[in-house]
Amino acid sequence: MARKFFVGGNFKMNGTIESIKQITHNLSSAKLDPNTEVVIAPPALYLLLTREHLDKGIEVAAQNVFDKPNGAFTGEISVSQLKDSNITWTILGHSERRTILQETDDFVAQKTKTALDGGIGVVLCCGESLEQREAGSTVDVVVKQLEAVNKVIGKDGWSKVVIAYEPIWAIGTGKVATTEQAQEVHAAIRKWLNESVSSTAGENTRIIYGGSVSEKNCKDLSTQSDIDGFLVGGASLKPAFVDIINARQ
Ligand code: PEP
Repeated sequence: MARKFFVGGNFKMNGTIESIKQITHNLSSAKLDPNTEVVIAPPALYLLLTREHLDKGIEVAAQNVFDKPNGAFTGEISVSQLKDSNITWTILGHSERRTILQETDDFVAQKTKTALDGGIGVVLCCGESLEQREAGSTVDVVVKQLEAVNKVIGKDGWSKVVIAYEPIWAIGTGKVATTEQAQEVHAAIRKWLNESVSSTAGENTRIIYGGSVSEKNCKDLSTQSDIDGFLVGGASLKPAFVDIINARQ
């Protein structure tokens, strides 16, 4: 099965009602590659507005979801609330949440299971810090993050997971990984999927790259055999996001 190219836009804690209306209008009226699956993740407050204004062919993701059903969890949102609002994906394990909000591998794994069990797709982020890369432990770090998830969701759980490899040193810094650096880690992740999950997961799971992707570097990255798309932060707020979606054209 060919893996469909996947481009996610992570708005992080950016945007206003006006700017989100503008972005959704631009995306809905742009000519987007039909061979690319596009998912955008606005702040929680704007999920419904985004869903309402966006072309139905583009999906919407939350930037996070809680691992418990509805109840007394102030400030959190649940999987059933996402489903109720036609939000079909969530990002989980973003490095900003792992580092700033101290989310552990196990907590990310638990939330991944809850989202998948509730029928929500997961863009699961993983990636190493600069110190870890310099110490030569990139693959170990990434595999440890993924293993925590595999332990909880099992080998059949990966069909609605997109793995986003995002080296922390490349996020929001303008320092993109070279195509070789990115391909090398993506190939290692695919090897891990093949050997530790299943050949089906190895063949079908999309592994996307994130970290200062722009309209300038996306084409080169998109030619690599194990790079199945992108998770885009800063550039997803700009008109150039369309060029990234169309990187393979
Ligand atoms: C991200 O936040 O997932 C990201 C990749 O950000 P940026 O594209 O701005 O580096």
